[in-house]
Amino acid sequence: MKLFNSLNRQVEELEMGDGEMGVYTCGPTVYSYVTIGNWRTYTLGDLVVRVLRMNGKEVNYVMNITDVGHLTGDNLGDANTGEDRLEKAAIKENKTAWDVAAHYTNDFLYWYEKLNLSKPSVFCKATDYIEEQINLIKQLEERGLTYLIGDGVYFDVRKYEEMGFEYGKLSTLDQIQAGARVEVNQEKKDARDFALWKFSQAEEKRHMEWDSPWGKGFPGWHIECSAMSMKYLGEQFEVHVGGEDLRSTHHPNEIAQSQGATGKEPFVKYWVHGAFLLVDGGRMGKSLGNAYNMVDVVDRGYDPLALRYFYFTGHYRKQLNFSWDGLSASATTLRRLREKIAELRKGNLEMKENFKGQLEEWNQKFMSAVNDDLDMPRAIAIVWDLVRSDEVASVKYELVVNNWDKVLGLDLDKEVVIEIDSGVEELVKKRDEARVNKDWQKSDEIRDQLMELGYEVEDGAEGTRVFKK
Ligand code: AMP
Ligand code: ZN
Repeated sequence: MKLFNSLNRQVEELEMGDGEMGVYTCGPTVYSYVTIGNWRTYTLGDLVVRVLRMNGKEVNYVMNITDVGHLTGDNLGDANTGEDRLEKAAIKENKTAWDVAAHYTNDFLYWYEKLNLSKPSVFCKATDYIEEQINLIKQLEERGLTYLIGDGVYFDVRKYEEMGFEYGKLSTLDQIQAGARVEVNQEKKDARDFALWKFSQAEEKRHMEWDSPWGKGFPGWHIECSAMSMKYLGEQFEVHVGGEDLRSTHHPNEIAQSQGATGKEPFVKYWVHGAFLLVDGGRMGKSLGNAYNMVDVVDRGYDPLALRYFYFTGHYRKQLNFSWDGLSASATTLRRLREKIAELRKGNLEMKENFKGQLEEWNQKFMSAVNDDLDMPRAIAIVWDLVRSDEVASVKYELVVNNWDKVLGLDLDKEVVIEIDSGVEELVKKRDEARVNKDWQKSDEIRDQLMELGYEVEDGAEGTRVFKK
């Protein structure tokens, strides 16, 4: 299996080894609803896990939940400024930060399942591992890699470099500069230094704060991922996944903390970064009103798995442009695929010895696509090639449903349920009458009416067919 490794900036053959592989994905910051952009990244993590398992590997999958310490400035370059996202949301919603975290965590877990994402062996919440984070900071302190300033304990990047490590191997410098919109803390020894522990300020009343050897406060954002991933996956593990914005600060900082504490390199062998989801050709943002979430998707009548299908229409290393029309097209295609499978189910599904050759040939095509740096557009095209081919039903069913759907996670064996209101049935009847009478204008009018009611309209051999979008 090949993956693009951001560490070496090339597509590499994965060394699988004998034992279990550790995979870690940076999870959500639970201060608001997870967006369809974030879900693209979690679907990438899921895909890495599914494809490794398909290749016969055992995987220990871990994902964190950030419920403290992620500051508003953290993704912008100088990773230790701004307000705590959770505390800020708590003020806005007139709740405690704990309640805010619990609410959005539950929502995240609900949709996580609906999107068929691989369940990690643990979803670790940062606030459950304060002791581990403090211990890791102590370890860094013992190695002379920290210093204290007015607002907290910081990681000393220059000292880390003196130990012989290279800082920021992953980072694409342009991105840091493009994002560096926050003021650099003047007390820091080096602009690249970042907070490990931040002190509660006298004037603020935080909901989340803990005692530490350095003073009351809370952990910096990066330390949680080092502490929790090493706790569950060991000081060195195989794959780490995240969105492309984490490549230049969060992940270099995770590496520096972990390698600085253990002295072992590499902390993680393969770093996988997913490109962003755009909306209508531009950035997705809360202030732009286009940071759609799963409720927006299902409120418009779409199956959450239609979104999963939509993600597969683009390669994970390319930005993918979301539009409601695009999602609608994916929903239709997924429905058609499920219909094809339903037809197969009616056929003869008996497996015969002499099918082996075809099974292997097709499977090899599919596996070489997913193993080629997760080329899902190609994999999906192969699914359609097979479904439309002259192969017998049992070969198609065996491959698509019993094997490939383990990677696709699209519930392809799901019955296509057509729910139609009685008023709509009436319209369908009228439209068919109009078509019999060759009254095209009326037929078109009724089609528009049906579409406005949220139905897709198809002209089948037996007349009008409608589907809920
Ligand atoms: P956050 O909740 O901000 O910590 O982000 C959670 C994850 O979603 C991170 O891995 C981000 O890189 C990723 N992410 C944020 N925005 C997008 C987007 N528009 N498209 C894809 N991934 C994103
Ligand atoms: Zn992380």
